[in-house]
Amino acid sequence: MKKYKIALIKGDGIGPEIIDEAVKVLDAVASRYDFDFDYEELLMGGIAYDITGDPLPQETVTKSLNSDAVLFGAIGGEKWDSLPREKRPESGLLRFRKELGVYANLRPAVVYDELVNASSLKPEVVKGVDLMVVRELIGGIYFGEPKGRDDFKGYNTMVYTRPEIERIAHQAFKIAMNRSKKVCSVDKANVLDVSQLWRDVVTEVAQEYPEVELSHMYVDNAAMQLIRDPRQFDVILTGNIFGDILSDEASMLSGSIGLLPSASTGDKVGVYEPIHGSAPDIAGQGIANPIATISSASMMLRYELGEKEAADRIDNAIKQALAEGYRTKDLAAFDAKEVCSTSEMGSIIANYAVK
Ligand code: NAD
Repeated sequence: MKKYKIALIKGDGIGPEIIDEAVKVLDAVASRYDFDFDYEELLMGGIAYDITGDPLPQETVTKSLNSDAVLFGAIGGEKWDSLPREKRPESGLLRFRKELGVYANLRPAVVYDELVNASSLKPEVVKGVDLMVVRELIGGIYFGEPKGRDDFKGYNTMVYTRPEIERIAHQAFKIAMNRSKKVCSVDKANVLDVSQLWRDVVTEVAQEYPEVELSHMYVDNAAMQLIRDPRQFDVILTGNIFGDILSDEASMLSGSIGLLPSASTGDKVGVYEPIHGSAPDIAGQGIANPIATISSASMMLRYELGEKEAADRIDNAIKQALAEGYRTKDLAAFDAKEVCSTSEMGSIIANYAVK
């Protein structure tokens, strides 16, 4: 039997509660297949600082790099906000992503039929939305040199090299092959030279994926189209700063932060995590929505471990739980038939996943 080594980083706040539910669902689904999981819990964030004095102990990096994938909860909380910057939980997370060399950030935005009313857009606009933003994560204007400021002038540099564009484009096309086979590359090629290179290289890479339909869109238009008609998109491929903005915009289509998963991948080990934080305001109450984390576990199966069928099972189980009217407290206002706890929601999804 295949055994996948999964590094579990529960972190702070609601982290442990939501990761426990994702593990429950993963174990349930594995019972239907010829694979199993070997979990190792690792420390990061405030809890790691409290125990070891470092928000990212070296052991966490080493063991994560030796695993098949990392499933991550959330870190942070007021308790650690007054620490010096390098000791804060958030610094640990940034360092972690860098150490793992994750250059692609994948953020799906899915609107579940039962929750179309949770979106701030009209139901007829968002019904059926299922798109994925593939954002380049460790290049572009956030990292380009030269950069600096004085009292008169501030400047940053937007740089992309051919290899950086090629590797993120390959990621996007591979993902599209598993979806509706459409990539929309977003840039600002009408103004920026760096974007013109981006567009040329993406077009070249596309030739290796003849089944995938490639289109290009300027970022200002993309921001508008996401609100006007989000269903036109399958995979949106874009650079760091444009992706930062568009992925937040896209995430709001679905209306609830407790539903949205993400993945950060590179050439080493991928990190799978909900997009929300540690929600200290509701930690320990058993009311957090575990769906974003369960959905992140499904992305881990699909994109890191190649267990597409098992991932489909989880995605369908989530849909079924919502269709049956099960809601955690955050979504209680949207056609709830039964409001359930974090752990009840995990069990309901786990049960549907093995049916
Ligand atoms: P947050 O995402 O933790 O919470 C924002 C709001 O959404 C809160 O009202 C919270 O109760 C609610 N919420 C979040 N997740 C939920 C869920 N699963 N179910 C139901 N409700 C949910 O953002 P914040 O309050 O700005 O940050 C809290 C802490 O989390 C901070 O220390 C911040 O630095 C940290 N943070 C960590 C990450 C991460 O670990 N990747 C990401 C963002 C913020």
